[in-house]
Amino acid sequence: MDFKKLTIKSASEGLRKKKFSSVELTEAILDEIERRDGEIKAFLSVDREGALEAAKDADRLLAKEENLSPLVGVPLAVKDAILVKDLVSTSASGILENYKATYDATVIKKIKEIGAVILGKTNMDEFAMGSSTENSAFFPTRNPHDLKKVPGGSSGGSAAAVAADETIWALGSDTGGSIRQPSSFCGIAGFKPSYGAVSRFGLMAMASSFDQIGPLGKTVEDCFTAFNAIRGKDSFDSTSFDVGLDLGDQLAVKNMKIGMPKEYFAQGLDPRIEMLVKQAIEKLQDQGAQIKEISLPHSQFALACYYLILSSEISANLARYDGIKYGVCRSGENLLDVYLNSRKDGLGDEVRRRIMLGTYALSAGYYDAYYKKAQQIRTLIRKDFEEAFKQVDVLMCPVSPILPFGFGEKTSDPIQMYLCDIYTVIANLAGVPALSMPCGKVGNLPVGLQIIGPQKGDSTVLQMGSALERLLK
Ligand code: GLN
Repeated sequence: MDFKKLTIKSASEGLRKKKFSSVELTEAILDEIERRDGEIKAFLSVDREGALEAAKDADRLLAKEENLSPLVGVPLAVKDAILVKDLVSTSASGILENYKATYDATVIKKIKEIGAVILGKTNMDEFAMGSSTENSAFFPTRNPHDLKKVPGGSSGGSAAAVAADETIWALGSDTGGSIRQPSSFCGIAGFKPSYGAVSRFGLMAMASSFDQIGPLGKTVEDCFTAFNAIRGKDSFDSTSFDVGLDLGDQLAVKNMKIGMPKEYFAQGLDPRIEMLVKQAIEKLQDQGAQIKEISLPHSQFALACYYLILSSEISANLARYDGIKYGVCRSGENLLDVYLNSRKDGLGDEVRRRIMLGTYALSAGYYDAYYKKAQQIRTLIRKDFEEAFKQVDVLMCPVSPILPFGFGEKTSDPIQMYLCDIYTVIANLAGVPALSMPCGKVGNLPVGLQIIGPQKGDSTVLQMGSALERLLK
């Protein structure tokens, strides 16, 4: 039995038909991690014992009950920014080295209750700041398609683990593209739900008005299944709500209106990526979908707007890492010195850069010119989407303007790294759902296509993606 190529769907079928047990499946995946991860480095920690314990419980459940969730007994990996009780949870930051979570994030509570099997915690850019996983305080992760290239970021460990068959699916978080861009770079599917559709409780906060947890999987259908299990209102996150999810209905591609935002097929886009994305869209057109060029006129300000509001929220959220309550503590002559020394030693360059930028943008005298202006532009960007979705059902565009790049290529110039996020940040600014799915390869490097839907249009996005996935097969 080759366990490696299993999806949530096929693994769950195998478990139900007793072709294998969850313990056998989990052992096989753990062995694969052992065999492969020395090279890929997707995991920060593996919880072999805990995973096998959960697998035994799942087997007991599978033996006595029917009508269980397809996630029962199926192994997954969890981004290190998401708290799993009693497991080390560092967000790949030195300041939280060896920090053990004292409670489960809501998404973890949900999947544990279902009977899923947590394999371990995956690598990421420190506190989810970055687009290549090179900002991890521990080590970079490699792209399974080409070990000389980055896997994308910040959920690079989760994406690489799925792509390298070191897990069946994974949880990640997306603040400005961190699920979608690594999914695109690693040739898998990744879904950022509508803001609020999944509880953020227990996700280490980066920028609270953008952060969203979501699934990464081998297929869009798997993302659908995983999202269904983690979504929903949570009393611990006041921004959460119940988004309806229509799992059964297969969307008729015919008569669907697809918008192609012209600002996202513009200068700077690799023509090979453009060609693959357009070819995939044409397949939908052949099925009767209507394609329309759309404009999102304020897109030109999106990246600046994102990095301003983001850094401002980071500067506030990361104030809690002061050496007193969690993680690394450095001594000093007085309390201020303790704070300063702990933060200087514990936080990496990119994190400190953003804290400084954000503190500046929020400071008296600059607040109106930067933070307030960026918030006003954010409203205009939201309105662009509202207008667009009066005309079309979904928008389609590339996930990334460039192919996976080499290690060190962009680390010396932060602006070059920020430019990687040009097509993904808008969905977070507007709070709308967006999916990344593979649409072909350039050489051995995968290319992702992005499907963006209206607020709470999560079903439409996933069904459209699933329809396209079938057409591309
Ligand atoms: N690359 C983006 C950034 O560095 C997105 C990060 C994310 O989504 N967590 O801000």
